[in-house]
Amino acid sequence: MELFKTYKLWPIEPVKGLGCRVWDKAGVEYLDLYGGHAVISVGHCHPKYLASLTSQAGKLGFYSNAVENSLQVTLAHKLGEICGYPDYNLFLCNSGAEANENAMKLASFATGRSKVLACTKAFHGRTSGAVAVTDNPKIQSPFNKTPNVEFIPLNDIASLEAKLATKEFAAVIIEGIQGVAGIWEPTEAFLKAARAACEKYGSLLIMDEVQSGMGRTGFFYAHQKWGVKADIISMAKGLGNGFPIGAIIINPALEATYGMLGTTFGGNHLACAAAISVLDIMKEEHLMENAAEVGNYLMDKLKGNKAVKQLRGRGLMIGIELSPGYENLRDRLLFEKHIFTGGAGANVIRLLPPLCITKADADIFIKSFNELTA
Ligand code: PLP
Repeated sequence: MELFKTYKLWPIEPVKGLGCRVWDKAGVEYLDLYGGHAVISVGHCHPKYLASLTSQAGKLGFYSNAVENSLQVTLAHKLGEICGYPDYNLFLCNSGAEANENAMKLASFATGRSKVLACTKAFHGRTSGAVAVTDNPKIQSPFNKTPNVEFIPLNDIASLEAKLATKEFAAVIIEGIQGVAGIWEPTEAFLKAARAACEKYGSLLIMDEVQSGMGRTGFFYAHQKWGVKADIISMAKGLGNGFPIGAIIINPALEATYGMLGTTFGGNHLACAAAISVLDIMKEEHLMENAAEVGNYLMDKLKGNKAVKQLRGRGLMIGIELSPGYENLRDRLLFEKHIFTGGAGANVIRLLPPLCITKADADIFIKSFNELTA
């Protein structure tokens, strides 16, 4: 059997990791400014994280969601404490797409409405509902396309208000910062208008913080910079530091009925052990603060380089839009300087490193970037 072709692969296989570094089979060391696609939050193979996972694996790896699981309760308390939404309720699942599916399903149940409003260029995942609110015709099959989803341009307040005024929409779903599209931020005015219009017309505000959440921007969730509160927030990626876990947190005003949401694997013992240790490490090592500090440092050092057409983003979610002529820079960073970065189209380099990155690591990147663009 061969693998089904999904991604165009780089000819490199990382087999070992530590902190912000990975090593390939030949022992070549790479600086990881990609974080395995914004997933590695507390660093590769953090000893405390490993101890938590291996100790739980030796006790109980899995049991059904039909019985009590105090690890889920502990996770809910710790997440509530660190994320700034202590009174919200937690539902656990396995991925970002699943988190968004559950968010939209819940909004539809709660409002009795079937439509969801989304933003152009958005990416919310690849399962049916999540891809339906993803503005990418290449990955949306005829099966996923539905009249229940409408798109408005990101930051277009007039379109947003006009759509929600129809009172047909259960929710509007917005990324904390659009990642896959190349790091585009919703403005303060747009998010505040979304909050107000949801209030006025009976819709719910869903913030997708799958990529921008978990402290990456220096705030636990990117939207918190603007003091706006969402009704449902989806997350995944950094929550498990590589162990698959997804989650939504839910406004307590939204009542659950038994059977409305469910999952076999979501919130299993190993996933909870991983996420609990991630939150503990984030707190103990001040990783949110570090994300803000090293992120600002990187942005400052990149300013003025002629290869940089525009710098976007916040904290450790940085988009470097390249000037024409630098389309192969990402490949050169990897193959010549052994630095992993993320991409977005041909001309945006995305920096999504582990939140434990140091200024010394940032300097290594800046030196390599300057050398390749001199
Ligand atoms: N939402 C956002 C903003 C994402 O960036 C992603 C993945 O890149 C997803 C949802 C989907 O997450 P997953 O791949 O875990 O299903």
